[in-house]
Amino acid sequence: MLFDTVNISIDTIANDYLIKKKIGLSVLRLDKIHPIVSGNKLFKLHYFLEEAMTLTMQGLLTFGGAYSNHLVATAFACKIAGLKSVGFVRGEKAAKLSTTLNACIKYGMQINYLSRAEYDKKENTDFLEKIRYKFKDFLIVPEGGFHPTGANGAALITNFIDANCSHICTALGTATTMAGLIMGAKYNQEIIGVSVLKGMTDINEKINYLTGNHHTFKLLDDYHFGGYAKKTPELINFMNQLYQQHNLPTDFVYTAKMMFGIFDAIEKGYFPTDSNITCLHTGGLQGNVSLPLNTLIF
Ligand SMILES: *Cc1c(COP(=O)(O)O)cnc(C)c1O
Repeated sequence: MLFDTVNISIDTIANDYLIKKKIGLSVLRLDKIHPIVSGNKLFKLHYFLEEAMTLTMQGLLTFGGAYSNHLVATAFACKIAGLKSVGFVRGEKAAKLSTTLNACIKYGMQINYLSRAEYDKKENTDFLEKIRYKFKDFLIVPEGGFHPTGANGAALITNFIDANCSHICTALGTATTMAGLIMGAKYNQEIIGVSVLKGMTDINEKINYLTGNHHTFKLLDDYHFGGYAKKTPELINFMNQLYQQHNLPTDFVYTAKMMFGIFDAIEKGYFPTDSNITCLHTGGLQGNVSLPLNTLIF
């Protein structure tokens, strides 16, 4: 791996309720890889970085919004790999740059702004042709790493998961991370994705594209709390409780919704006795800075 995985830990979550139900619950702390860069994003980039280096290309070129965890992960990963990075950002340049974009710039990313209309066309052949011509020596990474290469990188996460784990859970954005888990998991391990987007309808097509195959998995799509980056007092309460009781910090966009969904599924009896559940802490904690002061106790 190009990045440091030594700090990854597996934290056990235990309480009387879980003990009574005979359910093991642990959290794979990928967030500990880096304070700003989401752990899963670095895994998704692994084979893109390797390809760019093998082909002695200049670097990676990718896309994202002004708050994109993927964009900053790309900037960071390229910096430590000794590669250049180019980011195409959705929308006009703001008077005050986001923390995310400032971090991208700090890591040496060359930023280009696209109007929203242009950005929507970023997957069109014409547009990509133009970009390829202008940035001949850069490997293009789709937004969010949504590509089989990204999923193959995410599959490496399963190397850090205990062999006797029965269920592996992750938050779902583009579903690339979950596709990786599906490919890397043992045949008897069930994969559960908790969608953070409202109305995730094309999940089977996405998984087919990312893995090249049809697969079974479980989708929990009732825990988006109103949609992407939406929150409620109930979610915030849950985050504070989780921290107070188990010393586990989560982010309100991804990991809190995933943990909420898993706790709820446990309570509703989804998991059989003696289940051994591993939840991925994919990171994203820096996104909590957008919450009003004193919302969280951590
Ligand atoms: C991007 C992200 C996800 C979602 O990953 P996908 O591979 O897009 O499904 C989950 N958690 C965090 C913290 C992220 O930044």
